[in-house]
Amino acid sequence: MKKILILLLVTLNLLATAQERCGTVAHTKSMIENIPEYAAARAKVNAQTNEWINNNPDLNQKVTIHIPVVVHVVWNTNQENISDSQIESQIDILNADFNRTNVDKINTPSVWQSIAADCDIEFCLAKVDPNGNTTTGITRTQTTYTSFTMNNDVKETANGGIDAWDNDRYLNIWVCDLGSGLLGYATPPSNWIGSTDGVVIGYKYFGNSNFAPYNKGRTATHEVGHWLNLEHVWGDNFCGNDQVSDTPSQEQENYSCPSFPYNANSCQTNNANGDMFMNFMDYTNDACMNLFTNGQKARMIAAINQYRPNLSDINKCEGGNVSITESTNSSKKLLKIVDVLGRDIKEKTTNTPLLYIYSDGSVKKKIITE
Ligand SMILES: [Zn+2]
Repeated sequence: MKKILILLLVTLNLLATAQERCGTVAHTKSMIENIPEYAAARAKVNAQTNEWINNNPDLNQKVTIHIPVVVHVVWNTNQENISDSQIESQIDILNADFNRTNVDKINTPSVWQSIAADCDIEFCLAKVDPNGNTTTGITRTQTTYTSFTMNNDVKETANGGIDAWDNDRYLNIWVCDLGSGLLGYATPPSNWIGSTDGVVIGYKYFGNSNFAPYNKGRTATHEVGHWLNLEHVWGDNFCGNDQVSDTPSQEQENYSCPSFPYNANSCQTNNANGDMFMNFMDYTNDACMNLFTNGQKARMIAAINQYRPNLSDINKCEGGNVSITESTNSSKKLLKIVDVLGRDIKEKTTNTPLLYIYSDGSVKKKIITE
């Protein structure tokens, strides 16, 4: 009995320390079980997406999509408080992978070179925050939590993390210690968007790092793929459906880095090329991955147009053109109040149009009535 117990403990310990490439499927299942609005909206996504793609066959006519990103670093130890340059390396990797400028694209087998996609999606660290103020696009929060799980505490200030910026206008990425070997997870899109929408990545795997074989920032590439509605290439079932026609069916996920061709004709005959194990939506090592396909691109562009229409905003990437905001957040200070002739108003004045000038350059016109 004692031997069995020890064996059981050892087995449990192995399970606990094994690396889990991605928690998105489990997390999405939990959202569907606990949030009826998300469950209802998510059930419609595949039909809506196929309809959008059918109505928009030529994606190359579209303009470049610019996605402003805020990276929330939530740290307990100094090691977890990753540097600005490590964060910037991750943004560079996202831009390379989503625009097919990744140097390892030459490793895509020649049979798939013609369907490898330049998705024309650019990411930037946001230069304008939700209040219209200038920002680095990085927030840093010290926490007493030594690690986080998929319960989304990291996304809430009240629970040791930090609240999201407007989920429909920014890609929120939280970087923290996910403990237990989990690399990252994301929230797939739908017409319902909640305050936990975004991507979480373990600090060891964000950007160029020292934690091989997940040291080339492909965890974020994979999770942002989920966030833009991509599924795993094996469709999360044996020879499952990933809703994309140009990725071959495959039995299950792949690890490490197989040699091409791998597992030929496993799910269908006439598939001598086997698994597309180098797709960003498989589980192989970072150095093994190198493409999204045109079918995956169509699904991501459809997701942005249908479910994240307020997201693409070049002004938030370039700064400068800060729009007047209606926000009343306390971080924006009232500088002075003037009348329409520009005269300072010191006393309470009623029934006269007044201009409230704020520290971020925004102006509000108000009339105080008795
Ligand atoms: Zn995944």
